[in-house]
Amino acid sequence: MYGILPHLDICGRGVSTWTAKRFNTPKSVDIPLSKGRVYCEEPQKLPVNNSANSYCLGIESTADDFGAAILSFEGKVLSNANDAYMPKKGGIHPREAARHHAEVAEKVLAEAFEKAEIRPRDVNLVAFSQGPGLGPCLRTGATAARALASYLGVPLVGVNHCMAHIEIGKLATGARDPVTLYVSGGNTIVSAFEAGRYRVFGETLDIAVGNCLDVFAREVGLKQRRGVPFGAIVEELAGNGKTFVSLPYTVKGMDLSFSGLLTAAVQTFRKKKYSVEDVCFSLQEVAFSMLTEVTERALAHTEKPEVLLTGGVAANKKLQSMLRVIAEEHDARFCVVPRGLAADNGAMIAWTGILAYKSGLSTPIEKSFVNVKWRLEEVYAPWVEG
Ligand code: AMP
Ligand code: MG
Repeated sequence: MYGILPHLDICGRGVSTWTAKRFNTPKSVDIPLSKGRVYCEEPQKLPVNNSANSYCLGIESTADDFGAAILSFEGKVLSNANDAYMPKKGGIHPREAARHHAEVAEKVLAEAFEKAEIRPRDVNLVAFSQGPGLGPCLRTGATAARALASYLGVPLVGVNHCMAHIEIGKLATGARDPVTLYVSGGNTIVSAFEAGRYRVFGETLDIAVGNCLDVFAREVGLKQRRGVPFGAIVEELAGNGKTFVSLPYTVKGMDLSFSGLLTAAVQTFRKKKYSVEDVCFSLQEVAFSMLTEVTERALAHTEKPEVLLTGGVAANKKLQSMLRVIAEEHDARFCVVPRGLAADNGAMIAWTGILAYKSGLSTPIEKSFVNVKWRLEEVYAPWVEG
């Protein structure tokens, strides 16, 4: 019923044809891309609306997930649809993931509108993840967002994916000024808002902690089930581990490294001296202790009132319990993003888009190129107090 995006071009060169029977448009739309700055640097005078009857469509497509969500400008999540790319073998192949996104975009968008019970015409704003992420995947989502914003005649906002994980965590938990541990398949960042920007206090020097868990799971032959990520399978097995095996613990100043830990964990399993449960248990203990140490140091330094855990790995109960302890020791409130908003999702993009738009920011289509290495501290976020 929703013929929204029949011809997504995974190279991100624009939507070549635009059938959209449901919108009754006979025309084809070709959207040129040109280089420019992301966001308007200075807030513009935009019509700002706080109403529950104003809606933002958020599109997420940085890596394996294609998500679309509708949020009211007040922050109510009306829908949050998703379809994850599952490689038959190995890790995420960017072009294959982008192909998946192009194939499922129409279905996911239709689901988002149906669940929210609104029509595309009711949308007042379109937000999309502009970076960081995998180029082909980002470009697919950006193409869909540009086309929809342009067709519907509504503003477009490019959103930083890392910031979106923080902002949705704040919305869902009521945290106002936290030290955030953002842990996912592609990022591992300890940050807090200081002097007008989200500052990165510590981060991974190589792979993300979620990637470490995923690659370990694949290398030891675990099988992923739809809706159950590898990290959750490792968590399940770790719960039955009894023996702790020593593995490399690598914290360098405020930064972390997981690649040596991954190699050592896989090698330990292959020696067949310890069960997979014991290695999963030990891997989690070491990786999560490293994360907890760095987060605690950032908390002691900033003296923030809250610790926020966000990103896909935030669903892990063991990691939650470790962070809760350090938060309590520093008289900070421990906040964790709900499971449904932990992994990559369109709702976080929509919400951050709303925050940006209400501050007078928007992204002109000709400046909406994706930025695969867009760092958190580069982002202008005038709505944050801290
Ligand atoms: P994201 O990149 O934010 O979409 O999150 C996906 C990552 O979260 C993947 O690396 C998953 O393996 C990981 N993940 C999901 N659930 C869990 C869990 N319960 N424990 C640890 N990692 C998890
Ligand atoms: Mg993901």
